[in-house]
Amino acid sequence: MKIVVSKFGGSSLAYSDTYKKVYDIIKSSPDRKFIVASAPGKVSSNDTKITDLLYLAYDLASHKINYTEILESIENKYREIVSTLNIDFDIDMELKKLNNDLSSSVTKEYMASRGEYINAKILASYLGYKFMDAKDLIFFDREGNFLDEKSYISIYKLRESGDSYVIPGFYGEDEDGNIRTFSRGGGDLTGSIIASGLKANLYENWTDVSGFMSADPTIVKDPRHIEIITYRELRELSYAGASILHEEAILPVSKAGIPVVIKNTFAPQDEGTLILPDDSKKLSKNDRGVTGIAGRKNFTVINIEKTKMNKDKGFHRKLMSVLEVNNVPLEHMPSSIDSVSLIIADKYLTGHTDSLVSEIKSFVRPDKIKITKGIALISVVGRGMIRHVGASAKLFKALAENNVNIQMIIQGSSEMNIIVGIDENDFAKAINSIYSEFLA
Ligand code: ASP
Repeated sequence: MKIVVSKFGGSSLAYSDTYKKVYDIIKSSPDRKFIVASAPGKVSSNDTKITDLLYLAYDLASHKINYTEILESIENKYREIVSTLNIDFDIDMELKKLNNDLSSSVTKEYMASRGEYINAKILASYLGYKFMDAKDLIFFDREGNFLDEKSYISIYKLRESGDSYVIPGFYGEDEDGNIRTFSRGGGDLTGSIIASGLKANLYENWTDVSGFMSADPTIVKDPRHIEIITYRELRELSYAGASILHEEAILPVSKAGIPVVIKNTFAPQDEGTLILPDDSKKLSKNDRGVTGIAGRKNFTVINIEKTKMNKDKGFHRKLMSVLEVNNVPLEHMPSSIDSVSLIIADKYLTGHTDSLVSEIKSFVRPDKIKITKGIALISVVGRGMIRHVGASAKLFKALAENNVNIQMIIQGSSEMNIIVGIDENDFAKAINSIYSEFLA
């Protein structure tokens, strides 16, 4: 028997109808014995996720503002699920406890975690599986950093028990016994950690789309579906803006070499996207060279010129120390003999570009500094690009023919992606031209 970890996101567990779909999926394979559950998500686009309602209720309660209406919305969602599924579950007791928690001095992270806690308990009762609290499996230090070794020892014990479990996603416990949460969307990360701790054969991530597209469908019409992608390609595409999985979710499974499949709860027959180790024998050749294209706007480039910069030994160290002291992360740094460009996401510069520039001036005494705002970075990702002669020539030709001016080129040493920096106004045009060249 295979060990499979199946994580169901908020939209899959939003209300009784979606719960039934989840039930059918789980019961259709005897391998699905380890289930990770999110809190109920949105029922429709104008609905609010339980996690958001919990944060709101907590904020209102801590300012001594009436939160009854919010609490009622939370209660109604859980009651709809339990009563329609007709399960023997004491929802009154859980909701009474939630109400008591709100009027006592629990932490915000504890409050947020109750969304998955109650949902996982309901799902366990519906499936006839055991409920296993994530606080007994996932551990953090006092600063909220995840402790992998300690967690993996507890998780592996589940495998030895031979039982079937539902585990709430998103949270764990720190060394002082406090509930700590991952960042938003962290249920994906819990699933990945559980899969890694169990040394699973497969991590299934069930969501509301049938996997990854090779480009953003709001920019490219009907983009190709990605059947297979490697961990590294996915990291690059997620960094560049393609989001379905939590940014860090791929790390635990990729360390353990466990394949991941993204599946659609609302179309389980669709094959989804399979994410494989970079050296997997199952990887198809990918004859197109490019697997996907993604991009992000809102970058600023600080271009610094200084003659013979390459001979000035402390130059880059001083430059980096200005960024470090100002807590500004650097995305990329293309350079030539007399100049270097710092590419920085706008959100880290808001309100202090001028002070940062004057510190750079006084530290490294450049000949010239130029600031360019409104830059977009587009990443063209593909494990097949290594084998393809002329992939970059094709890329630049596609952009030139469509009148997109390339302001910067960054190529990773893995030769698995090429990033181009362009004017934000050319964003959609650039993505469409690259798509037509490689993937249409
Ligand atoms: N419920 C949490 C959130 O909304 C975690 C998750 O759904 O993965 O962010």
